[in-house]
Amino acid sequence: MEVRTRFAPSPTGFMHLGGVRTALYNYLYAKKNHGKFILRIEDTDQERYVEGATDVIYDTLRACGMEWDEGPDKGGDYGPYVQSERKPLYLPYAKQLIEKGAAYYCFCTKEELDERRAAAEARGEVFKYDKHCLNLSKEEVQAKLEAGTPYVIRMNCPTTGESTYDDEVFGHLTFPNDTLDDMVLIKTDGMPTYNFANVIDDHLMGITHVMRGMEYLSSTPKYNMLYNAFGWEIPQYVHLTTVMRDAHHKLSKRDGDAYYSDFIDKGYLKEALINYLALVGWNPGDDREFFTMDELIEAFDIKRLNNAPGIFDTDKLTWFNAEYIRKLPFDEYLKMVTPWFDKALAGKQFDYKRLAELMQSRTEVFNRVPDMVRFLVEMPEYDLDLYNNKKMKTNPDVAKESLTLVKPVLEGIEDWSEANIHDTVMAAIAESGKKNGAVLWPLRIAISGLASTPGGAFEIAYLLGKEETLRRLNSSMEKLSKDA
Ligand code: GLU
Repeated sequence: MEVRTRFAPSPTGFMHLGGVRTALYNYLYAKKNHGKFILRIEDTDQERYVEGATDVIYDTLRACGMEWDEGPDKGGDYGPYVQSERKPLYLPYAKQLIEKGAAYYCFCTKEELDERRAAAEARGEVFKYDKHCLNLSKEEVQAKLEAGTPYVIRMNCPTTGESTYDDEVFGHLTFPNDTLDDMVLIKTDGMPTYNFANVIDDHLMGITHVMRGMEYLSSTPKYNMLYNAFGWEIPQYVHLTTVMRDAHHKLSKRDGDAYYSDFIDKGYLKEALINYLALVGWNPGDDREFFTMDELIEAFDIKRLNNAPGIFDTDKLTWFNAEYIRKLPFDEYLKMVTPWFDKALAGKQFDYKRLAELMQSRTEVFNRVPDMVRFLVEMPEYDLDLYNNKKMKTNPDVAKESLTLVKPVLEGIEDWSEANIHDTVMAAIAESGKKNGAVLWPLRIAISGLASTPGGAFEIAYLLGKEETLRRLNSSMEKLSKDA
């Protein structure tokens, strides 16, 4: 039998990382088994619908390399793939259930329900629909329908006994039936609820494996009752644990760590994000950590999905990201880093190519780049203490001497190329009998104001240009003679 999985997002805004991971596992499983990955848009809750959200879903999946085999914009044999466009097909199925006694019309108004809910809560009970309308006679129902009374259709759940099913991740599960409520299948506006539509659509679309968030674990017995009432085969269930920030906190919109786009905007690479996300909740069974999409497909196995919450550790992601950035072809890195250079350096002429060469191995996340290169346009305030370096045997006094030596050497350089700066300064150091570090450490501090920089004294002098290098050198020497 062909494996058919589906990703069924609701177009409510940005793509949550948990959603991206659900899509990923569905995609991997389908591809691994040479099956089909289906995209279905679940927009039956029109109040939560956000304009443009479907495009965000398409763009995110495509950017990550998860192309679907069937879907709204692609078609397929089981369309339409947008639930609102399927609206007319749900009611006849609900009517079949009514015929079978597995569902019933309910005419209770919102006010009546609110009143009964408040009363139940006052008694300290959790409100469950009380099957009030199940007791209406056929004639009463008919009369109300003819009078055009607004209605919903509810499922008629058993109140005794228990329900069980097997989940690939959570194992054998049992739920007492008295916890099940007579959920709404068709709403007053004629739209199906998610609870109904997911069953109808998964069946009609031939879905073999339902992989979705674990928030649906406890409703699944009700879905199974619907499958059984229709006499349909129940798909295999693979419920996924929630992606968490830590043991107690979910990823949150407010903290800016919930959405795929939050991370892309900060300058994480999608390949690194996908690689890491795959490992939040799944492991390959060995110590491999780096995977291309094809390698993930090859390695993926639902038996290795974890039933403990997946902790999304941003530091670990950052580590992955740095590794991915290091491996980028240089031209690609240059293209990607350029706008981040511009944020700090725009308007000034710098050799971006040289700067990029110096920055690539130091870039962990692109949004950290502007702060790392800003010193090129803005000499930071620094403390003379920076000249103290045990290893280089330097201190402010040594610095003063070294800078006095190197200043005329730099002034005399005509061709301000990096190689020439290097050769000229190194020759002068050799001639002076000083140690390289005793000159180069103070020089780098004097022209950058930082203990750590991309590149050393020569690279920075080259990037700054002769005029700016000498200007900084002079002002640092003044600072030394004033304060030291
Ligand atoms: N539309 C549901 C959601 O976005 C999908 C759940 C499912 O995959 O069945 O949560």
